[in-house]
Amino acid sequence: PAPFPPDALGPNIDKMTMEIHHNKHHGGYANNLNKAISANAPQLDGKPLEQVLASNCAAVPEKARTAVRNNAGGHANHSVFWKIMSPDGGGEPGGELREAINDTFGSFAELKAEINDAGAKRFGSGWSWLVWDGTGLAVYSTANQDSPHMQSDVPVLGIDVWEHAYYLKYQNKRPAYLEAWWNVVNWPEVERRFAAAKSG
Ligand code: MN
Repeated sequence: PAPFPPDALGPNIDKMTMEIHHNKHHGGYANNLNKAISANAPQLDGKPLEQVLASNCAAVPEKARTAVRNNAGGHANHSVFWKIMSPDGGGEPGGELREAINDTFGSFAELKAEINDAGAKRFGSGWSWLVWDGTGLAVYSTANQDSPHMQSDVPVLGIDVWEHAYYLKYQNKRPAYLEAWWNVVNWPEVERRFAAAKSG
């Protein structure tokens, strides 16, 4: 279940988008992941997602690799996404995360501009990320449901830029969705993820 009711992120994320996104899209990734694992990679049953995704899914048998990459990525990415949004969200990061952002990007405004830019420029479907790469923070975009875990980075914050995340309310205006998304970002959870990633 999502950590909030489907209408809780309004007006930034509308109720119907939340219902379809959480129940149908994320639900579909989870179901299809389970099917692919049980049919073609039962040895991965119960393994942590990070481990399944590591090194471009090196542990996954080739006949299951595309299905597992897409659906384990989708499951991992959305599992982060719901938690880093909140009806009480918005504002600016604090604590050690704020200091790290200032050191790396100059300011929170600069970080936000970089993440929005990476998301707006993603051609087709994908994500825009703030990650911990083992030594510092970085911003990049991934295509489709590719996860930062595939290259051993830890997602600290990620914005879904698939059309299914915004099209009902924002239609073709992806930059408007990206701007509005920051009104629901759950900074305490993002700060917690940063601290956990940094301490390994
Ligand atoms: Mn999505």
